[in-house]
Amino acid sequence: MSTRSEAEDAPDSPDESLALAYTHRGLTYPLGRSGPEPGQLLPLADGVGWTRSPVPGSLGHINLWMLDDDGGEVAIVDSGLDSAPARDAWEALLGGPLAGRPASRILVTHFHPDHVGLAGWLAERFGVRLWMSRGEWLFARMLTADRRDAPPPEAIAYWRAAGWDEVRIAAEVAKGWGRFASAVSEIPVSYVRLQDGERIRIGRREWRIVIGSGHSPEHACLVDEAGGLMIAGDQVLPRITSNVSLSLSEPEADPLGEWLDSIARLRELPGDLLVLPSHGEPFTGLHARLDALDGGHRRQLDALHAHLAEPRRAVDCFGVLFGRRIDDRMLGLATGEAMAHLRRLEVEGRAVRDVRDGTHFYSQA
Ligand SMILES: [Zn+2]
Repeated sequence: MSTRSEAEDAPDSPDESLALAYTHRGLTYPLGRSGPEPGQLLPLADGVGWTRSPVPGSLGHINLWMLDDDGGEVAIVDSGLDSAPARDAWEALLGGPLAGRPASRILVTHFHPDHVGLAGWLAERFGVRLWMSRGEWLFARMLTADRRDAPPPEAIAYWRAAGWDEVRIAAEVAKGWGRFASAVSEIPVSYVRLQDGERIRIGRREWRIVIGSGHSPEHACLVDEAGGLMIAGDQVLPRITSNVSLSLSEPEADPLGEWLDSIARLRELPGDLLVLPSHGEPFTGLHARLDALDGGHRRQLDALHAHLAEPRRAVDCFGVLFGRRIDDRMLGLATGEAMAHLRRLEVEGRAVRDVRDGTHFYSQA
């Protein structure tokens, strides 16, 4: 899991929030509650295949989508972590169900390592372009190029702001820096930009790009309204809630506000789409899921607000937000999420921040 916010230096997937999963009542899983094994390709809809790539930790897998393109080629959506098991899964797929079918292009929903990890490797292997939104491509390029050995002073200031003690900060410093690059193959220096509202044709389907934010800067979803499909990435997950963290790169941003705005925008999509999420199984019930996510975050904000009757640091809010003990392994992720919720309350005018010796204390406004 992430050792600091937004997976900027994470060796594996930061996609899952530590918050208890909000209800998935109202969802149906037309293809059942299991999926393909790595190396297998499951036909999902006309011209759409589903495979999985292994991810360590509780997530276990990421879903990858293979879209029939012109001339028998296949457009690949998301790529998996750059790890030996994930490369093995690709070799099984390319030597098995996809044998003789070259890739036409690699599309990636967002910069997190389980999504972009093998995109460069695939693009080079097939001699094809990478398609991403500009914000996500820039982030992936930036983080793979950040090769310093030790955490920068801004990282230490961020941990101190959240209330980490000096022992914990020293332990984090000792871990070094640059773990993102170890889970991601080299990102191509040129790419094709995906833009909000744009329509792209892939084989016989036309997909509209819908951009969301909050989990990552400029996350691309692909929506084929006529065909009734939505490739949702991590923007909508069925049983786990997506990680929304305050990022070191923008410590005065409001990612939870952006996330809630994105939920409202996605609510305008048809409610009967078959949603293809990056983790879990394809489902219907988009509006029910969006309502549950929105309601869950707002209840968390209310509970956090009540908790701020006395000044609190981010580390004092884990119990009310996550309802479980946070061990060292989860500390970075929990800190990023707690900071995002506190910052949201501040932006809403419900909390004020007092900075003492670099540590941020929030209390009710
Ligand atoms: Zn993600």
